[in-house]
Amino acid sequence: MKAFEATRLFFNQAADQLDLPEELREALLMPDREVQVQVTIRRDNGKLANFVGFRVQHDHSRGPMKGGLRFHPEVDLDETRALASLMTWKTAVVNLPYGGAKGGIGVNPRDLSVAELERLTRAFVDQIHDIVGPDTDIPAPDMGTDHQVMSWFRNQWEKYHGFHPAVITGKPVEEYGAKGREEATGRGVGTLTVKLIKRLGMKADQSKVAIQGFGNVGSHAAKFLHEAQFPIVAVSDISGTYYAENGLNIPELLRHKISHPQGLLEGYEHAERLPLEALLKLDHVDVLIPAALGGVIHEDNVESVHAKVIIEAANGPVHPGADTILHERGVTVLPDILANAGGVTVSYFEWVQNRQHYRWSLDRVRQELDHTMNEAFEDVWQMAGQHNVSLRTAAYMIGITRVKRAAELAGLA
Ligand code: GLU
Repeated sequence: MKAFEATRLFFNQAADQLDLPEELREALLMPDREVQVQVTIRRDNGKLANFVGFRVQHDHSRGPMKGGLRFHPEVDLDETRALASLMTWKTAVVNLPYGGAKGGIGVNPRDLSVAELERLTRAFVDQIHDIVGPDTDIPAPDMGTDHQVMSWFRNQWEKYHGFHPAVITGKPVEEYGAKGREEATGRGVGTLTVKLIKRLGMKADQSKVAIQGFGNVGSHAAKFLHEAQFPIVAVSDISGTYYAENGLNIPELLRHKISHPQGLLEGYEHAERLPLEALLKLDHVDVLIPAALGGVIHEDNVESVHAKVIIEAANGPVHPGADTILHERGVTVLPDILANAGGVTVSYFEWVQNRQHYRWSLDRVRQELDHTMNEAFEDVWQMAGQHNVSLRTAAYMIGITRVKRAAELAGLA
């Protein structure tokens, strides 16, 4: 199943609960604008290389559109559209004054030199600079992009439009970035995991955690949960799965990652090595945190997932078919549009700081992030209880209701 079809199914489950008429469903689901551009650069070897870039602006009823830029070989229009729509519901669930968008380039950034990556980013800005801006559409990091890419993006955009650091978030801290932005998604995942586990009557130190993906999100979630006394028994990245029955030495793994030229766990020797796919299927894991690609838990492998709790740190990691089976089995799934909203929340704080030319302390960022995430969690939890639906359907119900209200206030057509 394609990614946008999957989000449409999740949307419809909530829309059914809300008795939303068909015409409104279409109006809310259809993206405002989809842009596809050619991105051509000269490689270091002198040859031309062509890539395809996208920016999908999904909905702006609640404010300027917001969402990351993904550099990954699987980026295409359908995936970008799905991720853009997730941003619309996500910003609404955490009640940020934003709509949703997403962009990216179909490229493997690991295949490019730093100079090539810079040229690629600048060429992409040349193609889309007119449709983004601090009051219209504000990009941010996602898979395969980081603060350096944000910095090139801003610099190139400002060549056309003049100084305005709020055009993009996730910038380097020393250059209009916000303290705590980099850890934000992982911290939000961690905060809500702690909260959910407590709510379910489980104990942190007896809840074994497995994390798929040790990039920005997975590694910060691991750090947070390790400090909160959770035994983290497995983590994985593209180099494989690293396992220790009684809990991995997370600080050591983090140090290893930092010292590796590509930020990988490759070569880490103080854990058992398992194949990549083993992570999802581990026995005796209580909390599974997919923090990498979408669509990793589907109908064909859901039977071998043993965890009682799944925290969607990635966007769209559970397919709708698998989601229904998990729900019937009594597995609690904390949905992406709530679980990983910490990133865009601190992006919002960064944007606010840029506009006010004022800097918040790390303490303030963390405090306001925790507050926002806790409040959203309580809203979703309450909605799920009231309507006897999954946390995902409850989160979509809240997101859709807020977007619908804003669209109606503005006058739908
Ligand atoms: N890419 C992140 C997400 O999927 C962050 C987006 C943002 O900060 O605008 O939520």
